[in-house]
Amino acid sequence: MISVEQHLDRILTTVSVIRPFELGVLDAQGCVLAEDVTARGSLPGFTNSAMDGYAVHASDVAGAAPESPVVLPVVGDIAAGNTAALSLVPGQTMRIMTGAPMPRGADAVVPVEATDGGLVRVEVRKASVVGQHVREVGEDVESGAVILRAGTLLGPGQIALLAAAGVARVRVAPRPRVVVLSTGDELVEVGRTPAFGQIVDSNSVMLTAAVTAVGATPYRVGGVRDDARQLRETLEGQLVRADAIITTGGVSMGAFDTVKEVLSRVGTMQFDKVAMRPGMPQGFGTLGEEKVPVFTLPGNPVSALVSFHVFVAPALRAMAGRPEPSFPPGYVPAVAAEPMTSVPGKMEFLRVTLDDDQARLAGGQGSHMLGALAAADALAVIPEDVTQVRPGDPIECLPLLGREGQ
Ligand code: AMP
Ligand code: MG
Repeated sequence: MISVEQHLDRILTTVSVIRPFELGVLDAQGCVLAEDVTARGSLPGFTNSAMDGYAVHASDVAGAAPESPVVLPVVGDIAAGNTAALSLVPGQTMRIMTGAPMPRGADAVVPVEATDGGLVRVEVRKASVVGQHVREVGEDVESGAVILRAGTLLGPGQIALLAAAGVARVRVAPRPRVVVLSTGDELVEVGRTPAFGQIVDSNSVMLTAAVTAVGATPYRVGGVRDDARQLRETLEGQLVRADAIITTGGVSMGAFDTVKEVLSRVGTMQFDKVAMRPGMPQGFGTLGEEKVPVFTLPGNPVSALVSFHVFVAPALRAMAGRPEPSFPPGYVPAVAAEPMTSVPGKMEFLRVTLDDDQARLAGGQGSHMLGALAAADALAVIPEDVTQVRPGDPIECLPLLGREGQ
């Protein structure tokens, strides 16, 4: 028996960041930059107005006040998108809109609210100083400056900056492409009515959803029969398009545990008992020339999803250049709202609901119980040496993917 930490450690020291790839900025959402990025142009790219109002020479309106307004002739209108090179001579003004280029010579904008809004001549009722309500060229970003560093995770704000700074494509660690396949003679495809003795292949849809939830790209192969040849051929066929493969089923002590039978002694595959509940039988290793990481998870649905959270998700994040800051990864503190028990010598992952930080068991804890799994928000992680948790005890929880906002 090995510990959860030992198994995760073996996984994380085996996987590596996927070779960088150039993507359009929108496709790169959720990816991590593989190199520093510099701005192709300045932001703003030209000096422009920060307000709807009137472009002026500030010295012309230095004495303006409600009781002593300054009247100026309005000699033009500048809308956002105006590309003409305009000039403003002293003693005159132009109406200008937010984002419109400042005419040469003008050095301030009087907001429309500080005027009578005149179209031919305007009464300015407030003094202005040089630079007021003006956005200077390059004040946000200077052309050629590093705007984002290698290692930055790209979200909407970063994507906007790249686009605005003239960067349409970036080199990133791509999303891992993850093949999901399940094994078992009892499986029928989702949407089919199982005959007596059969069950719907819920694992492959669950893990496909989980792969998407961690920001990787799933390829769902679905159910493969407990047949050594079929499984071997399917795996060989999938290796070419996979950065990682996840299987479920066939790794315990049964008579037809085909995954273990086919993959024992292949590549660097190793099958272990991990001191955890649920999820004890685990297999991991690499297959093929490209050394594709393969996770063989147990078949019970709860075991499979727990294993995904504890082992696969950290590995996929690391492959995408997003290593976890620490072990245990992503734990949040909570408080037990009721008694919980755990077997000695195993790390227990109890399905719990979270109401603020109050954790309660989410129903039956059997590893086949999808009803309780679906009601849960998080996994309460009870260490190996703890057998009893009392109400009020602090506990660590691993939020379930996609339930963070619950
Ligand atoms: P195994 O690990 O293959 O012995 O399967 C353990 C349990 O998980 C059995 O009750 C299986 O029927 C169930 N199981 C295996 N694969 C799946 C699957 N793809 N979807 C739902 N349940 C499964
Ligand atoms: Mg099976």
